[in-house]
Amino acid sequence: MAKSRFEYVRSYETPDPLIPNTFIVVRIDGRGFHRFSDAHSFEKPNDRRALDLMDLAAKTVMDEYKDVVLAFGESDEYSFLLRRTTKLYNRRRSKISSSVVSLFTSAYVFNWSQFFPSTPLVYPPSFDSRVVLYPGEKEIRDYFGWRQADTHINNLYNTSFWALVKSGQTTAEANKALQGTDSKDKNEILFSRFGVNYNTLPAMYRKGSICLRQPTTTTVLPAQIPADGENAQTEAGPSSVRDVARMAGQHCSDSSSRSDSVRVQ
Ligand code: ATP
Ligand code: ATP
Ligand code: MG
Ligand code: MG
Ligand code: MG
Ligand code: MG
Repeated sequence: MAKSRFEYVRSYETPDPLIPNTFIVVRIDGRGFHRFSDAHSFEKPNDRRALDLMDLAAKTVMDEYKDVVLAFGESDEYSFLLRRTTKLYNRRRSKISSSVVSLFTSAYVFNWSQFFPSTPLVYPPSFDSRVVLYPGEKEIRDYFGWRQADTHINNLYNTSFWALVKSGQTTAEANKALQGTDSKDKNEILFSRFGVNYNTLPAMYRKGSICLRQPTTTTVLPAQIPADGENAQTEAGPSSVRDVARMAGQHCSDSSSRSDSVRVQ
Protein backbone atom coordinates (compact mmCIF):
# COMPACT_ATOMS: atom_id res chain seq x y z
CA MET A 1 0.00 0.00 0.00
CA ALA A 2 1.02 3.57 -0.72
CA LYS A 3 1.95 4.42 2.83
CA SER A 4 4.49 1.64 3.21
CA ARG A 5 5.97 2.33 -0.21
CA PHE A 6 6.74 5.90 0.76
CA GLU A 7 7.51 5.43 4.40
CA TYR A 8 11.17 4.62 3.93
CA VAL A 9 11.90 8.34 3.50
CA ARG A 10 11.37 8.73 7.21
CA SER A 11 14.67 6.94 7.77
CA TYR A 12 16.39 9.99 6.29
CA GLU A 13 15.36 11.93 9.39
CA THR A 14 18.33 11.47 11.64
CA PRO A 15 17.99 11.62 15.41
CA ASP A 16 19.66 14.59 17.10
CA PRO A 17 19.58 13.99 20.84
CA LEU A 18 21.60 16.24 23.13
CA ILE A 19 23.77 14.32 25.55
CA PRO A 20 22.26 13.86 29.02
CA ASN A 21 23.17 15.77 32.16
CA THR A 22 24.55 18.85 30.46
CA PHE A 23 23.34 22.45 30.59
CA ILE A 24 21.53 23.50 27.44
CA VAL A 25 21.81 27.09 26.28
CA VAL A 26 19.66 28.29 23.41
CA ARG A 27 20.83 31.59 21.97
CA ILE A 28 18.64 33.45 19.54
CA ASP A 29 19.74 36.53 17.58
CA GLY A 30 17.85 38.90 15.30
CA ARG A 31 18.61 38.42 11.64
CA GLY A 32 19.83 41.60 10.01
CA PHE A 33 18.72 43.81 12.89
CA HIS A 34 21.08 46.54 11.85
CA ARG A 35 18.78 47.02 8.89
CA PHE A 36 15.63 46.18 10.85
CA SER A 37 16.44 48.83 13.47
CA ASP A 38 16.98 51.41 10.72
CA ALA A 39 13.82 50.45 8.88
CA HIS A 40 11.83 50.90 12.09
CA SER A 41 13.60 54.06 13.28
CA PHE A 42 15.05 52.65 16.49
CA GLU A 43 16.57 55.30 18.69
CA LYS A 44 20.36 55.04 18.74
CA PRO A 45 22.34 53.74 20.44
CA ASN A 46 19.63 52.11 22.58
CA ASP A 47 15.94 51.99 21.86
CA ARG A 48 14.33 51.19 25.19
CA ARG A 49 11.07 50.06 23.55
CA ALA A 50 12.89 47.44 21.49
CA LEU A 51 14.71 46.11 24.56
CA ASP A 52 11.45 45.93 26.52
CA LEU A 53 9.85 44.05 23.64
CA MET A 54 12.76 41.57 23.63
CA ASP A 55 12.29 41.09 27.39
CA LEU A 56 8.59 40.40 26.97
CA ALA A 57 9.25 37.87 24.20
CA ALA A 58 11.78 36.17 26.51
CA LYS A 59 9.21 36.03 29.30
CA THR A 60 6.75 34.42 26.92
CA VAL A 61 9.31 31.70 26.27
CA MET A 62 9.84 31.21 30.02
CA ASP A 63 6.09 31.01 30.60
CA GLU A 64 5.80 28.25 28.06
CA TYR A 65 8.98 26.30 28.79
CA LYS A 66 9.20 25.78 32.53
CA ASP A 67 12.62 24.14 32.26
CA VAL A 68 14.14 27.46 31.25
CA VAL A 69 15.51 28.69 34.56
CA LEU A 70 17.26 31.84 33.46
CA ALA A 71 17.55 34.08 30.43
CA PHE A 72 19.92 36.90 29.55
CA GLY A 73 19.30 39.47 26.84
CA GLU A 74 21.09 42.34 25.11
CA SER A 75 20.58 44.12 21.82
CA ASP A 76 18.84 41.70 19.44
CA GLU A 77 19.84 38.53 21.25
CA TYR A 78 18.66 36.37 24.13
CA SER A 79 20.19 33.30 25.78
CA PHE A 80 18.01 30.74 27.54
CA LEU A 81 19.44 28.34 30.10
CA LEU A 82 17.62 25.03 30.52
CA ARG A 83 17.96 22.91 33.62
CA ARG A 84 20.55 20.21 33.34
CA THR A 85 18.09 17.35 33.68
CA THR A 86 15.48 18.68 31.30
CA LYS A 87 13.61 16.08 29.27
CA LEU A 88 12.09 18.69 26.97
CA TYR A 89 11.29 17.04 23.63
CA ASN A 90 13.47 14.14 24.74
CA ARG A 91 16.37 16.59 24.41
CA ARG A 92 16.04 16.66 20.65
CA ARG A 93 18.24 19.51 19.45
CA SER A 94 16.27 20.79 16.51
CA LYS A 95 12.91 20.56 18.31
CA ILE A 96 14.22 22.60 21.24
CA SER A 97 16.02 25.14 19.11
CA SER A 98 13.22 25.67 16.62
CA SER A 99 10.41 25.76 19.17
CA VAL A 100 12.13 28.37 21.31
CA VAL A 101 13.04 30.67 18.44
CA SER A 102 9.62 30.28 16.83
CA LEU A 103 7.77 31.25 20.01
CA PHE A 104 10.19 34.10 20.66
CA THR A 105 9.67 35.47 17.16
CA SER A 106 5.90 35.20 17.21
CA ALA A 107 5.77 36.86 20.65
CA TYR A 108 7.98 39.67 19.30
CA VAL A 109 5.61 40.27 16.41
CA PHE A 110 2.46 39.68 18.49
CA ASN A 111 3.48 42.38 20.99
CA TRP A 112 5.16 44.77 18.58
CA SER A 113 2.33 47.35 18.44
CA GLN A 114 2.22 47.57 22.22
CA PHE A 115 5.76 48.99 22.21
CA PHE A 116 5.71 50.70 18.81
CA PRO A 117 2.12 51.95 18.52
CA SER A 118 2.90 54.39 15.72
CA THR A 119 5.50 52.34 13.84
CA PRO A 120 3.93 49.58 11.76
CA LEU A 121 6.12 46.61 10.93
CA VAL A 122 7.30 47.06 7.36
CA TYR A 123 8.49 43.47 7.00
CA PRO A 124 8.48 40.35 9.18
CA PRO A 125 11.50 40.13 11.51
CA SER A 126 13.22 36.80 12.07
CA PHE A 127 15.68 35.35 14.53
CA ASP A 128 18.24 32.58 14.22
CA SER A 129 18.89 30.06 16.94
CA ARG A 130 21.63 27.75 18.12
CA VAL A 131 22.02 25.27 20.93
CA VAL A 132 25.22 24.98 22.92
CA LEU A 133 25.90 22.41 25.63
CA TYR A 134 27.95 23.18 28.72
CA PRO A 135 29.31 20.58 31.13
CA GLY A 136 29.35 22.52 34.39
CA GLU A 137 28.56 25.59 36.44
CA LYS A 138 31.88 27.25 35.73
CA GLU A 139 31.23 27.21 32.00
CA ILE A 140 27.71 28.53 32.56
CA ARG A 141 28.97 31.43 34.65
CA ASP A 142 31.66 32.13 32.07
CA TYR A 143 29.14 31.91 29.24
CA PHE A 144 26.94 34.60 30.77
CA GLY A 145 30.03 36.60 31.71
CA TRP A 146 31.09 36.44 28.07
CA ARG A 147 27.72 37.67 26.81
CA GLN A 148 27.74 40.47 29.35
CA ALA A 149 31.25 41.53 28.39
CA ASP A 150 29.92 41.73 24.84
CA THR A 151 27.06 43.95 26.03
CA HIS A 152 29.50 46.31 27.69
CA ILE A 153 31.98 46.48 24.80
CA ASN A 154 29.26 47.05 22.20
CA ASN A 155 27.41 49.57 24.31
CA LEU A 156 30.49 51.63 25.09
CA TYR A 157 31.39 51.66 21.42
CA ASN A 158 27.85 52.47 20.26
CA THR A 159 27.37 55.17 22.88
CA SER A 160 30.61 56.88 21.81
CA PHE A 161 29.87 56.38 18.12
CA TRP A 162 26.39 57.91 18.29
CA ALA A 163 27.57 60.79 20.48
CA LEU A 164 30.06 61.68 17.75
CA VAL A 165 27.48 61.28 14.99
CA LYS A 166 24.88 63.33 16.84
CA SER A 167 27.51 66.05 17.30
CA GLY A 168 27.86 66.37 13.54
CA GLN A 169 30.42 63.77 12.44
CA THR A 170 29.65 61.45 9.56
CA THR A 171 29.47 57.76 10.42
CA ALA A 172 32.79 57.25 8.61
CA GLU A 173 34.42 60.02 10.65
CA ALA A 174 33.03 58.63 13.90
CA ASN A 175 34.28 55.16 13.01
CA LYS A 176 37.71 56.53 12.28
CA ALA A 177 37.81 58.59 15.46
CA LEU A 178 37.16 55.44 17.50
CA GLN A 179 39.65 53.25 15.67
CA GLY A 180 42.35 51.96 18.00
CA THR A 181 40.73 53.41 21.13
CA ASP A 182 40.39 51.37 24.31
CA SER A 183 37.63 51.66 26.89
CA LYS A 184 39.49 54.30 28.84
CA ASP A 185 39.74 56.48 25.71
CA LYS A 186 36.05 56.06 24.98
CA ASN A 187 35.08 56.92 28.55
CA GLU A 188 37.28 60.00 28.23
CA ILE A 189 35.73 61.07 24.90
CA LEU A 190 32.26 60.70 26.41
CA PHE A 191 33.16 62.62 29.53
CA SER A 192 35.32 65.43 28.20
CA ARG A 193 33.51 66.09 24.92
CA PHE A 194 29.94 65.28 25.83
CA GLY A 195 29.80 65.51 29.63
CA VAL A 196 28.57 61.92 29.78
CA ASN A 197 29.62 59.75 32.69
CA TYR A 198 29.29 56.30 31.14
CA ASN A 199 28.77 54.60 34.50
CA THR A 200 25.62 56.58 35.15
CA LEU A 201 23.88 55.44 31.96
CA PRO A 202 20.97 53.03 32.55
CA ALA A 203 22.28 49.68 33.79
CA MET A 204 20.05 47.89 31.29
CA TYR A 205 22.10 49.37 28.45
CA ARG A 206 25.45 48.64 30.05
CA LYS A 207 24.72 45.20 31.50
CA GLY A 208 21.74 43.69 29.73
CA SER A 209 18.53 42.13 31.05
CA ILE A 210 17.98 39.02 33.06
CA CYS A 211 14.90 36.87 33.62
CA LEU A 212 15.21 34.49 36.54
CA ARG A 213 12.62 31.89 37.45
CA GLN A 214 11.58 32.38 41.05
CA PRO A 215 11.09 29.12 42.91
CA THR A 216 9.10 30.40 45.86
CA THR A 217 7.05 33.41 44.90
CA THR A 218 4.13 34.02 42.63
CA THR A 219 5.02 37.58 41.80
CA VAL A 220 7.10 39.00 39.02
CA LEU A 221 10.71 39.65 39.96
CA PRO A 222 11.34 42.81 41.91
CA ALA A 223 13.81 45.31 40.53
CA GLN A 224 16.36 44.22 43.11
CA ILE A 225 18.03 40.87 43.14
CA PRO A 226 16.35 38.89 45.92
CA ALA A 227 18.44 38.60 49.03
CA ASP A 228 17.27 35.02 49.42
CA GLY A 229 18.67 34.02 46.08
CA GLU A 230 20.30 31.15 47.96
CA ASN A 231 16.93 29.45 47.89
CA ALA A 232 16.97 29.11 44.15
CA GLN A 233 16.51 25.40 43.58
CA THR A 234 17.83 25.19 40.11
CA GLU A 235 20.00 22.72 38.38
CA ALA A 236 22.62 25.38 37.92
CA GLY A 237 23.07 25.36 41.67
CA PRO A 238 22.12 28.22 43.93
CA SER A 239 25.38 30.10 43.80
CA SER A 240 25.75 30.19 40.06
CA VAL A 241 22.20 31.37 39.48
CA ARG A 242 22.69 34.02 42.11
CA ASP A 243 25.98 35.06 40.59
CA VAL A 244 24.51 35.30 37.15
CA ALA A 245 21.49 37.19 38.44
CA ARG A 246 23.71 39.66 40.26
CA MET A 247 25.42 40.74 37.08
CA ALA A 248 22.26 41.89 35.36
CA GLY A 249 21.54 45.51 34.62
CA GLN A 250 17.83 45.11 34.17
CA HIS A 251 15.51 42.55 35.57
CA CYS A 252 13.04 41.31 33.11
CA SER A 253 10.24 43.01 35.02
CA ASP A 254 6.69 43.17 33.88
CA SER A 255 6.05 45.87 31.36
CA SER A 256 2.59 44.86 30.32
CA SER A 257 -0.60 43.49 31.78
CA ARG A 258 0.95 40.04 31.90
CA SER A 259 1.87 39.48 35.51
CA ASP A 260 2.42 35.77 35.56
CA SER A 261 5.64 35.54 33.68
CA VAL A 262 8.42 34.57 35.99
CA ARG A 263 7.12 32.53 38.87
CA VAL A 264 6.80 29.25 40.69
CA GLN A 265 7.84 26.16 38.82
P1 ATP B 1 23.11 39.24 12.00
O1 ATP B 1 21.99 38.83 11.12
O2 ATP B 1 24.43 38.68 11.58
O3 ATP B 1 22.85 39.01 13.47
P2 ATP B 1 22.65 42.03 12.64
O4 ATP B 1 22.49 43.21 11.74
O5 ATP B 1 21.44 41.59 13.39
O6 ATP B 1 23.25 40.84 11.77
P3 ATP B 1 24.02 42.11 15.21
O7 ATP B 1 25.49 41.95 15.45
O8 ATP B 1 23.13 41.04 15.72
O9 ATP B 1 23.83 42.36 13.65
O10 ATP B 1 23.63 43.49 15.83
C1 ATP B 1 22.32 43.89 16.00
C2 ATP B 1 22.16 45.35 15.61
O11 ATP B 1 20.78 45.72 15.76
C3 ATP B 1 22.90 46.32 16.50
O12 ATP B 1 24.19 46.55 16.04
C4 ATP B 1 22.04 47.56 16.42
O13 ATP B 1 22.37 48.28 15.25
C5 ATP B 1 20.65 47.02 16.21
N1 ATP B 1 19.83 47.01 17.45
C6 ATP B 1 19.37 45.90 18.09
N2 ATP B 1 18.66 46.24 19.18
C7 ATP B 1 18.67 47.58 19.24
C8 ATP B 1 18.10 48.53 20.16
N3 ATP B 1 17.39 48.16 21.22
N4 ATP B 1 18.29 49.85 19.92
C9 ATP B 1 19.02 50.24 18.84
N5 ATP B 1 19.57 49.41 17.94
C10 ATP B 1 19.41 48.08 18.14
P1 ATP C 1 2.52 18.66 17.80
O1 ATP C 1 2.88 19.82 18.66
O2 ATP C 1 3.04 17.37 18.28
O3 ATP C 1 2.81 18.90 16.34
P2 ATP C 1 -0.24 19.08 17.01
O4 ATP C 1 -1.46 19.26 17.84
O5 ATP C 1 0.26 20.28 16.25
O6 ATP C 1 0.89 18.51 17.95
P3 ATP C 1 -0.15 17.63 14.49
O7 ATP C 1 0.06 16.16 14.27
O8 ATP C 1 0.94 18.51 13.99
O9 ATP C 1 -0.49 17.85 16.04
O10 ATP C 1 -1.50 17.97 13.82
C1 ATP C 1 -1.96 19.27 13.61
C2 ATP C 1 -3.44 19.37 13.97
O11 ATP C 1 -3.83 20.73 13.81
C3 ATP C 1 -4.34 18.55 13.06
O12 ATP C 1 -4.54 17.27 13.55
C4 ATP C 1 -5.62 19.37 13.10
O13 ATP C 1 -6.38 19.05 14.26
C5 ATP C 1 -5.12 20.79 13.30
N1 ATP C 1 -5.07 21.54 12.04
C6 ATP C 1 -3.94 21.97 11.42
N2 ATP C 1 -4.24 22.62 10.31
C7 ATP C 1 -5.57 22.61 10.21
C8 ATP C 1 -6.49 23.13 9.24
N3 ATP C 1 -6.05 23.81 8.18
N4 ATP C 1 -7.77 22.96 9.45
C9 ATP C 1 -8.22 22.29 10.53
N5 ATP C 1 -7.44 21.77 11.46
C10 ATP C 1 -6.12 21.92 11.32
MG1 MG D 1 23.73 36.67 14.26
MG1 MG E 1 21.54 40.06 14.82
MG1 MG F 1 23.11 40.50 17.83
MG1 MG G 1 1.90 20.15 14.96
